[in-house]
Amino acid sequence: MITSTTGPQPADFADVRATNLAVVLRFVREHAPCSRADIAASTGLNKATVSSLIADLIDRRLVRETGLTENRVGRPATMLVLDGSPYAAIGVEINVDHVSAVATGLAGERLLTWRRAFSGGDSVNQGMANVGAIVRRVVSRMAKEDRQVLGLAVAVPGLVDVQGTARIAPNLGWRDADIGGDLAKALRDPGFPIQVDNDANLAALAEQRFGAHAGASDLVYLTGEIGVGAGIILDGRLRRGRLGYSGEIGHVQLDPDGPACHCGRRGCLEVMAGVGAVLRKDLSPAEVQMEIEEAVRLARAGDPGTLATLDAVGRSLGKGVSILANLLNPEVVVLGGYYVPLAPWLLPAVHDELGDRVIASEAGGCQVVASTLGHDAAALGGAARVLDSIDSGRLPGGLSRIP
Ligand SMILES: [Zn+2]
Repeated sequence: MITSTTGPQPADFADVRATNLAVVLRFVREHAPCSRADIAASTGLNKATVSSLIADLIDRRLVRETGLTENRVGRPATMLVLDGSPYAAIGVEINVDHVSAVATGLAGERLLTWRRAFSGGDSVNQGMANVGAIVRRVVSRMAKEDRQVLGLAVAVPGLVDVQGTARIAPNLGWRDADIGGDLAKALRDPGFPIQVDNDANLAALAEQRFGAHAGASDLVYLTGEIGVGAGIILDGRLRRGRLGYSGEIGHVQLDPDGPACHCGRRGCLEVMAGVGAVLRKDLSPAEVQMEIEEAVRLARAGDPGTLATLDAVGRSLGKGVSILANLLNPEVVVLGGYYVPLAPWLLPAVHDELGDRVIASEAGGCQVVASTLGHDAAALGGAARVLDSIDSGRLPGGLSRIP
């Protein structure tokens, strides 16, 4: 928290006020229903400041009074909750054969969940035109509900640099795609920020905000698709690295004599522990879904070949998770995508490998769990990223009440 006692310049004052607005908004998010006095007592801001900040948040329709009061010693206190009814946060995930879109309200409540068939087309331009058409429909749906879009974050399976350019998205066949710029054009400069990030990074943010281990400050999310990538949250923050390329655990080599990886190397984690290792080769995305369901059916029926395959994949995955546990000491590694239905057969082998390979006892406290957020975790994470920006002080509307 920033408090000011030294006669700041006006610009500094605006910063201080924006920061304090964010502090109060986060407090209401976490503790609602709560009173102005609760906020003052917990944040250390004085009561007059809290009243002024709350008036501003009510003006922006980010917070509202419930009409309920709580009787404290003598004086009833009006209770506050998040409002946000005029707003929406949008997350979109571009996949090989579909686009997922999620819109949430300020409190994270789902307003919309879409999955639309998508063709990347013959070029990035054509692919982006298709994505743009889907996103335009989401935005106009929110407009029809009289909601202002706070922001849009787009998840891409591939290397996305810190400027938001998708440098390499191998499964889409895209290189150097300025997805944010293309979408801004498709939406005709929509007036809200557009962010682009790697799918694993955004899925990790979804877990941090909405998952079974929400609030964990050291969490790794592993995408369980044909490709395997990691979204890494350490000390409460997403860690992207120098250029934004962290988390490419899928191309850590587990076996120099292992099968060829599409990256041109051999024995990468993703060819040994990605869902491709469970399946026949060269399936279409729609066939992958069916094959995974078939593998689950066979595993349930105790089919020895399927059980042996899943054990081998679980062991390779366990080697990868052990590297993460030794290197990062996460509290939890969340398995996403197709790992979720396969988890009952993968996790025993993963736990064995962790026990053997992590130098700290009890794997350094690292739990490995299946995601509970479903297949649109990365899209949900896009919405989470927008809410994160609001919580860190990028509030909608002007600072109209600066004295
Ligand atoms: Zn590779």
